[in-house]
Amino acid sequence: MIPGFVPPQTPLLVVRRSALDRNLDAMQRLCDLAGVRLRAHGKTHKCSTLGRQQVETGAVGLCAQTVGEAEAFARGGISDILVTAPHAPWGAHRLAALAVGGARIGATVDSAEQIERLGEAARTAGAVLDCVIDVDPGTHRTGAHPSRILELARLAADTEGLNYAGIQAYAGHLQHLSDVPARKAADEGVFRMLAGLVADLRAADLAPGVVTGGGTGTHAWDLASGVFTELQAGSYAFMDVEYEDCGAPEGGWPFEASLFVVASAISANHKSHVTIDAGFKAMAVDGPPARVVAGAAKGALWRPMGDEHGMILDPSAIPMLKGGSFVEAVDNLDADVGAPWPAEAPKAGDLVWLQIGHCDPTINLYDALHVVAEDGSWERWPIDARRVS
Ligand code: PLP
Ligand code: MN
Repeated sequence: MIPGFVPPQTPLLVVRRSALDRNLDAMQRLCDLAGVRLRAHGKTHKCSTLGRQQVETGAVGLCAQTVGEAEAFARGGISDILVTAPHAPWGAHRLAALAVGGARIGATVDSAEQIERLGEAARTAGAVLDCVIDVDPGTHRTGAHPSRILELARLAADTEGLNYAGIQAYAGHLQHLSDVPARKAADEGVFRMLAGLVADLRAADLAPGVVTGGGTGTHAWDLASGVFTELQAGSYAFMDVEYEDCGAPEGGWPFEASLFVVASAISANHKSHVTIDAGFKAMAVDGPPARVVAGAAKGALWRPMGDEHGMILDPSAIPMLKGGSFVEAVDNLDADVGAPWPAEAPKAGDLVWLQIGHCDPTINLYDALHVVAEDGSWERWPIDARRVS
C-alpha cells in the first residue's frame, strides 16, 4: 500500500499520514464552515501527539473519556480537556489536581452527588473546574433524563469551585445505524429535545455556554443542527470498517481509512488460506472483521484463528469452505488435485495490510502508532493514554 515502507516488525499498527492529515483537515473545515468548535475525542487515538495535531489544525482542545486519559493528554501538552463521562468518586480530586496544574479541565456529571463531590475536590485543591451536565439523549449509558437537567444545572451554578459550563448529549446509539434516513430522523429528535432544553435553561437564567456532543456517524446533521456549539467526533481521524460500512450521513464520507494493521504471512501451505501473524491479540473483534486492503486478492477475508494468528481466506476458496468443519474442508481442498491454488494469495513473508474493524479498542492493544509518509519514512507516536483509568 505504501511500497517504500519496511515495517520494523509485524503486526504493526500503522497510520497513513497523508490520509490522517486529510481527515483532520476535512473535519476542521466542516466545523469551521458550520461555526461549530471541534473538540476531537481523544478516546479514539489515546495519543497526545495526534491530539496536538488536532489542536494545531484548529480544534479547541480534546475530549477524554477517563480521568487517566485526561491526565495523559495534559502531560502531553493539551491545555483544554473535557472528560465526557461521569467519573468514579476517586477521580474528583485527580481532576482538581489537573486543573491546579494549569490545564482547563471540564468534568461531565449526571447526578447531584457528583456535583457536590467535584465542588468539594475543587475547593480543597484551590481549583476551578468546568462542570458540564450530561443529558441522556436515549442511549441510556450516561446522562440524566432531560427533565432533571435544570435542577442539576442550578446546583452546578451554585456550587463554589465549579464553573457551570453547559450541557452534553452524545447519541452513541445512533452513530452506526445503517438505515441512514432513520439515523438522521432520530438525530433530529435529539436536536428538538436539546433545543427545548436550551430554551428552558435560558428562561431559568442558566443559558448553557456550551452544548457539546455529536459523533462521526451523525456529524453532518450535528453541525447543521444549530444546537451544538461543539462537536466531539473521534473516529473520523481513522475511519474503521464499522463506520465506512454503515453509510455516510450525507452523500459519501469525507473521510478515508488511515489506520491499518500491517501483518506478515508466515505460513502458506494450503489451497484455501494463508496464515498471518495477526490474530485476536492484534485486532479487537467486537466490531466487524478487519478488511484486507493490500497484499492479497480483492475480496480476501481476514478471520482470527488464534491468539497470535489469523487467516487470509482466498475468495475462490470461500464457497468450498462453507459448512461443516473447517479442518476437514481444508483437508478436502488440499487433497483435491483439481482445486485451484489461489492466484493472488500472499506468499510466506509477504505483507498484508488490514483496515481496522473498530478503531478505539484496537488502538488500545498497541504501545505506539507508526505514522508512515508516502515515501515510506515513519515516526513512532506513543499511545501514551493507553492503560490508564
Ligand atoms: N463523545 C462521546 C461521549 C463518546 O463516547 C464518543 C465515542 O464513543 C465520541 C464522542 C466520539 O464518537 P465517534 O468516534 O463516533 O466520532
Ligand atoms: Mn468506537
